[in-house]
Amino acid sequence: MIAVIGGGASGLMAALTAAEHNDEVVLLERQPRVGRKLLSTGNGRCNLSNINAAPQKYHGADVQFVQPALAAFGVPDTIEYFRGLGLLTVCEADGRIYPWSNQAGSVVDVLRLAAAGRGISLRTDCQVTALRQTAAGFALELGEQRLLADKVIVCSGGLAGGKVGGSGSGYALLQGLGHTCTRLYPSLVQLKTDNTFVRALKGVRADARVTLLKQGTPVAKNSGEVQFTEYGVSGPAIFDISRAAAVSSGGILLSLDLLPEITEPELIFLLQQRQRILPQLQSSDFLTGMLHNRLGQTLLRYVGIGLNTGISGLVEGQLRRIAYAVKHFELAVTGTLGFDNAQVTAGGIKTEEFNPQTLESRLIPGLYAAGEVLDIDGDCGGYNLQWAWASGRLAGRIQ
Ligand SMILES: Cc1cc2nc3c(=O)[nH]c(=O)nc-3n(C[C@H](O)[C@H](O)[C@H](O)COP(=O)(O)OP(=O)(O)OC[C@H]3O[C@@H](n4cnc5c(N)ncnc54)[C@H](O)[C@@H]3O)c2cc1C
Repeated sequence: MIAVIGGGASGLMAALTAAEHNDEVVLLERQPRVGRKLLSTGNGRCNLSNINAAPQKYHGADVQFVQPALAAFGVPDTIEYFRGLGLLTVCEADGRIYPWSNQAGSVVDVLRLAAAGRGISLRTDCQVTALRQTAAGFALELGEQRLLADKVIVCSGGLAGGKVGGSGSGYALLQGLGHTCTRLYPSLVQLKTDNTFVRALKGVRADARVTLLKQGTPVAKNSGEVQFTEYGVSGPAIFDISRAAAVSSGGILLSLDLLPEITEPELIFLLQQRQRILPQLQSSDFLTGMLHNRLGQTLLRYVGIGLNTGISGLVEGQLRRIAYAVKHFELAVTGTLGFDNAQVTAGGIKTEEFNPQTLESRLIPGLYAAGEVLDIDGDCGGYNLQWAWASGRLAGRIQ
């Protein structure tokens, strides 16, 4: 009998695959239903893959670890597999793949229906509390009950998204069998910053080029939408750089280029022109029409110019300071929000302890792991689920 621990993305895929070659497959899920986290993915639409999936979209001590799984079950295979289960998909901007129905529930439904159709024994409300190796096989404790399995696939996910299923229990189960866990960090998560200036910007969105700097050196860059919040910044452009902030031990600055299409000299020219054409303007309106009004006013305060100052009186040095601030609005990063707000866990069980060709443990034969519980995390855009499907598929090939 094969026991799969965790009825999330990788566990459902592992169980379905294992059922192709094995008579008895049991899927154990501690929540009342399988695929709970999947329902929350992609803002309820489930961004289930990305046509650009490749090792460079992933992070961990050894990103090449993902290669065999992605080679054996790549994005076209994933799309084809889901089509075989009845799910139609569509490819959107940046190569993101969604269900045609636009409902994450459709992804869970086709997996759940396929699992029932293939005779997989689904046991929900069933937390595995201990896992031991015995002479007779793997002994799993499920509260009061016991289960004996020939082989086990641990698909328990990570700590991210605690309210929708994130749990650290899988790390403990694997550590109990001698495996090692790296430090864990929340990733694809909002950044907390010094909020002296951002507080006033709550709710403002801007398209920006964002750079994280550690002691002046860029450590991560991205472009896209930034959302200002009372504690700092959020939004798609921020999520992908949050990993670098989470794993750094402080001293990080976030620099925002709020007019990425315009160079600093061009901006100075525009400001000089505006000063000539509209000399009666107050500085509170100096950036009106270029940026969100509240953002423009905040930048003026950021460079120390009162909002009631007439713009005709501003000297060239002040115009240069304003232009520089628009291109380099710098905020000290004080941390990230926690695992409950994160989409993925950075870090996990060390991949060097598993064979990348099979996902079998190098320490305990018959023990496998897939998905987020391993030290692999992907960029925002469908890469984490692609890893969950590909690794679940590979681990599920056990016989
Ligand atoms: C809000 C949110 C949005 C996201 N959006 C996207 C997206 O659009 N695209 C994308 O690619 N990724 C997205 N992700 C990330 C993605 O959902 C995860 O990386 C992926 O689900 C990981 O799959 P998994 O099978 O490893 O873990 P999970 O899907 O988390 O499944 C693990 C399962 O194991 C169960 N479990 C844990 N311990 C035990 C135990 N001891 N006994 C029994 N059961 C146990 C858990 O309850 C859970 O159901 C998002 C994450 C969040 C939180």
